[in-house]
Amino acid sequence: MKNETDGAHYQKAAVAIEAARHITVVGHLNPDADAIGTALGLWWILKGLKKRVDVVFVSTPLPQVLSFLPGFGKIKHQIDPKSDLIIGVDCGSFDRLGIGRIEGSMLINIDHHRSNTFYGDINLVEPHFASASQTAFRLVGIAGWDVPKNGAVNFYTALVSDTGFFGYESVGPGVFDFAKTLLELGADAEWTARMLRENQPLSKLRLLPKVLETLTLYLGGRVAGLKVTLDMLKSSGASIGETEDMVNYARSLATVEVGFLIREEPDGGLKVSLRSKELVDVAQIAVKFGGGGHIRAAGFTVYGMEQDLLVDKLLKILQKEL
Ligand code: 5GP
Ligand code: MN
Repeated sequence: MKNETDGAHYQKAAVAIEAARHITVVGHLNPDADAIGTALGLWWILKGLKKRVDVVFVSTPLPQVLSFLPGFGKIKHQIDPKSDLIIGVDCGSFDRLGIGRIEGSMLINIDHHRSNTFYGDINLVEPHFASASQTAFRLVGIAGWDVPKNGAVNFYTALVSDTGFFGYESVGPGVFDFAKTLLELGADAEWTARMLRENQPLSKLRLLPKVLETLTLYLGGRVAGLKVTLDMLKSSGASIGETEDMVNYARSLATVEVGFLIREEPDGGLKVSLRSKELVDVAQIAVKFGGGGHIRAAGFTVYGMEQDLLVDKLLKILQKEL
């Protein structure tokens, strides 16, 4: 597999990590299983180096469906300013970490987003990797660190989640090699699948029909849109993280190339998720709105824009691409 980032950057990162005293691993706002699994996987591995290591996610509440991940209960929501090394994981831009700069601390950026802005002092960014855990694991391999079972369990969850259980375009032989290694290190495929797919809160299933009810087709059925309002979340008792993946229903229609979901945020913003099948680079579209992501999955948030106008703008761009 082609590597975008030179091995020398990994060596530099390994040296910096081994020299650090207090490391904080931070993932992106509204984290998904890749962000949390990669961060906690690193936590278990770096703890083995006898370091003080924190895992921080600024967002609250965290998705409770991921509470099965070993170490989940140790996650903090605020960064300790005494950290001398910060590792950002699965995050394409510094603002999405939700933290301020800490004077005198080094920042290592471990990611796989093609829209990554190289915000770190050292940037380990592999857009051809399926999951941020794959980038993290490349570092671990080059550094020669041990991976305890709980590290493998976290990385495996990150990997299956960001590959849609080995079904996305990013999946090639390298992904299966990585999965094989993680299973050999103690990850459990059946248990992970059950925890991720058959452990849903009732509120999420109550929310689903309300969201599907909003399905609207555009551009001759090549685009499908869904909406999530704050009222829907309230009446179903669902938290914001439970809308994760619902955008896939829009893309799942036979005629559809691009599916989107617009979610009302408690702070008045509109969060847009974009998914495509094989033609449209949705990361490029998200970047136009100040967001980012991957070729087939991307997102952004807008403020002060009416929903109808937002949909119009989106469709104008999509019309040119389809
Ligand atoms: P989702 O639609 O599931 O929130 O996100 C899909 C992909 O796009 C994820 O890889 C996510 O990290 C990225 N993404 C979503 N929203 C934003 C955003 O506001 N900014 C950036 N840079 N990336 C985003
Ligand atoms: Mn990811």
